[in-house]
Amino acid sequence: APLLLWFRRDLRLDDLPMLTAALATGRPLIPVFVLDAETEALGAAPKWRLGLGIGAFAARLVAAGSRLVLRRGAALPVLQALVAETGAAGVMWSRLYDPASRKRDEAVKAELRAQGLLAESHAGHLLHEPWTVETGTGGFYRVYTPYWKAVRGRPVAEAVAAPAALPAPEVWPASEALEAWRLGAAMNRGAAIVARHVQVGEAPALSRLQRFLDGPVKEYREARDFPAVDACSGLSENLAYGEIGPRRIWHAGWAAMERGAAGAEHFLKELVWREFSYHLMFHTPEITTRNWKPEWDAFPWQGDGEAAERWRRGMTGEPFVDAAMREMYVTGRMHNRGRMIVASYLTKHLMTDWRIGQAWFEDCLVDWDPAANAMGWQWAAGSGPDAAPYFRIFNPATQVEKFDGGAAYRKRFIAELSRQAGAEALAFFDAVPRSWGLSAAQRYPMPMVDLAEGRERALAAYANRGLQA
Ligand code: FAD
Repeated sequence: APLLLWFRRDLRLDDLPMLTAALATGRPLIPVFVLDAETEALGAAPKWRLGLGIGAFAARLVAAGSRLVLRRGAALPVLQALVAETGAAGVMWSRLYDPASRKRDEAVKAELRAQGLLAESHAGHLLHEPWTVETGTGGFYRVYTPYWKAVRGRPVAEAVAAPAALPAPEVWPASEALEAWRLGAAMNRGAAIVARHVQVGEAPALSRLQRFLDGPVKEYREARDFPAVDACSGLSENLAYGEIGPRRIWHAGWAAMERGAAGAEHFLKELVWREFSYHLMFHTPEITTRNWKPEWDAFPWQGDGEAAERWRRGMTGEPFVDAAMREMYVTGRMHNRGRMIVASYLTKHLMTDWRIGQAWFEDCLVDWDPAANAMGWQWAAGSGPDAAPYFRIFNPATQVEKFDGGAAYRKRFIAELSRQAGAEALAFFDAVPRSWGLSAAQRYPMPMVDLAEGRERALAAYANRGLQA
């Protein structure tokens, strides 16, 4: 009897523990992707990007003598129907850790097992399962540095190379057509423009890693903060869909470190920020929806409105903020320094609820990740674990002098700031919805808040509520 492989955010054949386990059974394998409500709920850009990922992965499977069976519906009945159709012995998958996936997967596992079927989940999305890293007193980590110290020297199993072929069943179950799923339907922000910037699939992900470790890693520690410099790996996009596994990255980064590549350890540390965000989300799932520090519930967060809308449109008049927001519409991604600045500006200078920014990122980022995004927003707002202290309010004007002194980043994305705007700055106007009514002929707006006033207002609000870092 064959086995069903239920793929979700693990669209790869390289270093996939569930695949290694499945191959060891010697059974024919039937890869499946289910478009269920949890997947339908993805934001516009990640859902569009997922469609590209599924397409690339399906082609990859064909090259390995296999196929990807696409089915729409709630995961449990879809998997049960496939088991009935194919006579499969059961289902294997790679674990996910966000609250919605966990709830679904636990129910699927219980039901399949109750039917006497094999139902097995495996690691693969992370270096370390969140419950295996414990403090001296048996709790979880709330602060990054001790977490890093706890995992830095921990063994990570070697990555397992992709098999050349997957054993196929004699008869393939029918598959729906990917185009019919219209995963890009909600992407009304210039999919064609973002498409120039994405790097989809396993082979591009592996070459991205290689390219990064062959060069930029040497300058990574210093250059990673400068948004105009192409100094980072770009791997978040691929990690989000599992087109590359974290163990593959860890071992390659570790080898670079041992070769003496400056910056390699720093790169590993960043990869561990991702782990840490999952550790936090596993132990405190409410991090994705509620102020992690409950005393922040009393803070007079502003709701959605004109201020948030100008922020979303990249029209705040604060060049660092606007350049970063526009970068997101043109490339589908945003430099980490930009993410910190726009999040700080929205939550502090505009005192807007971090969840409004979080939701917008979820809709716009092709590398959207439930754990990293939630942690990043709560960190910037001050409401989260190991957060920036509430009184540390990034000043976008001084930040931009420090990290974009030559204005290359601002000019790259803000057409109104240069006489001869480049292709990407102009692409912004084509990338955003028409309903925003923006054009390259417009004038760049005056700053919507005075930075000093905005800062004082936020500090006064913190003082009123007796909030502390
Ligand atoms: P590199 O610098 O090459 O780092 C390598 C890898 O380390 C990244 O691919 C990523 O997996 C991990 N990493 C690096 N920095 C962080 C971090 N601060 N937190 C968690 N993991 C990190 N990252 C996402 O992947 N998805 C998100 O939705 C997301 N939202 C964010 C929201 C805010 C408000 C902030 C401040 C940060 C957010 N980040 C998010 C983290 C970070 O900005 C990105 O991971 C990084 O910019 C990705 O670029 P890269 O792959 O070139 O990173």
